[in-house]
Order: sequence, then C-alpha cells, then structure tokens
Amino acid sequence: MEEAMQALRQWISESRCAVFFGGAGVSTESGIPDFRSVDGLYHQKYDAPPETILSHSYFYRHTDSFFRFYREKMLYLDAAPNDAHLALAKLEQQGHLAGVITQNIDGLHQAAGSRNVQELHGSVLRNYCTRCHRFAPLGEILQSEGVPKCACGGILKPDVVLYEESLDSRTLERSLELIENADLLIVGGTSLAVYPAAGLIRYYRGSRLVLINLSPTPYDREADLLIAGKIGQVLGSVVP
Ligand code: NAD
Repeated sequence: MEEAMQALRQWISESRCAVFFGGAGVSTESGIPDFRSVDGLYHQKYDAPPETILSHSYFYRHTDSFFRFYREKMLYLDAAPNDAHLALAKLEQQGHLAGVITQNIDGLHQAAGSRNVQELHGSVLRNYCTRCHRFAPLGEILQSEGVPKCACGGILKPDVVLYEESLDSRTLERSLELIENADLLIVGGTSLAVYPAAGLIRYYRGSRLVLINLSPTPYDREADLLIAGKIGQVLGSVVP
C-alpha cells in the first residue's frame, strides 16, 4: 500500500490537469451514508426500494412519500467536508487538478473550496418550481411541511437527477472534456455501478488511472494503480 501511495504522490506532483471522478463513498467520512455499502441505504428497509422512491415517476405519483424519504435520508445539513474534499480543493489551488466530477448531491466539494465541480446528479442545495421554473433555495424545502409548494401553486422539486431522468447535457459535455484532456484520472468512493455516469471514465485516454475504493469495482482490472482504502485517509496523506 505504501508503494502505491508513493506512486500516487509522484503522479500528482507531475500532473497539470488531473481529474477526480467520485461518488457517495467520498462523503461517508463526513457521515453521509452511501447506497451500496453494508450500512448504506440499500440495506435498510423502506416501503419501496430507494431506486423506486428516488425515481421520476414515484416523485409525481407519491410526492408526499418522496419528500418524507428525501427529508429523512437525503439531507445532511450538518455534514462538513472531510480530508478527501479538502485535499482535492488544495490540488486545484496548486494547479495540479483541473476539476472534480461528482455523482454526489451534497455540495461538499464546493464547501471545501473546489471551484470546477461538475455535479452529474445535481444538488440538494438547489430546487425549482415544476410549474413556473423559479429557482428556490433549500431553505424553502426545509421550512415547508409535506409537499413543498411555490407561491404559484407548483410543486418544488430538488434539482437532483432522479432515476428515469437524463443527465444535464452541458454538465455531461464539460465532464467529458475534462476526462478527455486529463493527464491523470483519480476515481474514488464509487461502486461504478450507476450509468451513464460510470461510463464516463471510458473516455480517459491516458495511462495513469488510479482507483481508490473500499470494495472491488468492475473497473479494478483496468486501473494502473489500485488502492483499497478510505479515500479521506488516502488523499489526506498524499496531499498533506
Ligand atoms: P455507491 O453507494 O454505489 O458506492 C459507494 C462506493 O464507495 C462503494 O463501493 C464503497 O465501497 C465505497 N466507499 C464507501 N466509503 C468509502 C470511503 N471512505 N473510501 C473509499 N471508498 C468508500 O455510490 P455511487 O457509486 O456514488 O452511486 C450511487 C448514487 O448514490 C450516485 O448516483 C449518487 O448520486 C448517490 N448518492 C449520493 C450521496 C451524496 O451526495 N453524498 C449519498 C448517497 C448516494
């Protein structure tokens, strides 16, 4: 493991446009559960599986139940950036990292100071009215009870990509451009099971693909460097 960490340190120091691609595992050290770990959301019991509750059709058919689950399980307002978020923000400032592409919806990369963050699945911090399309801050969801409504009577919807919905095309384009131009791609804290997001890493053309994850992923054999460890600990130690 120490040898791999040393190689990662070296690659980062030589890089001028590294890119980080991450998922829910990046925020578990901030106290936000992921989906697929043993204590993740998929191993807890609800009326319907999380994929169903977090789908476009469920949102419109069972809006009340959606918001009950959403308020209880998707909002972690006290969470703070951990060593992984902070290390990535530092690398961007130092001119090594060109950007972060995240599947997370928690806003913690920006809270840590990262500026170029592509949020593939949106953010809980933004919401909009499904009728008049007005943007609404998270406060409006928090202050409401039951189904949050706009002054115009429309339902407020979190600006997150639900199952059955497509990704924002501009975010996708910017992410592809980052990956295609990367001289180092660090992938971490993601099961690489959610498509199309996971497929993006196929567009990396370089020879320095680093994978940092606690459990095996379908891309392990393609990694040039594989580190089975906690991402906050790993990045915190290679980026002091
Ligand atoms: P996932 O739950 O499918 O996989 C998380 C992966 O991270 C697992 O393989 C796990 O072994 C690994 N992991 C957990 N903690 C880790 C750590 N400290 N260090 C290294 N690895 C760790 O998550 P995913 O791949 O991102 O895909 C699921 C979807 O979950 C995404 O679309 C995302 O939008 C959503 N999600 C987001 C949040 C968030 O915003 N924080 C939380 C839960 C789920």
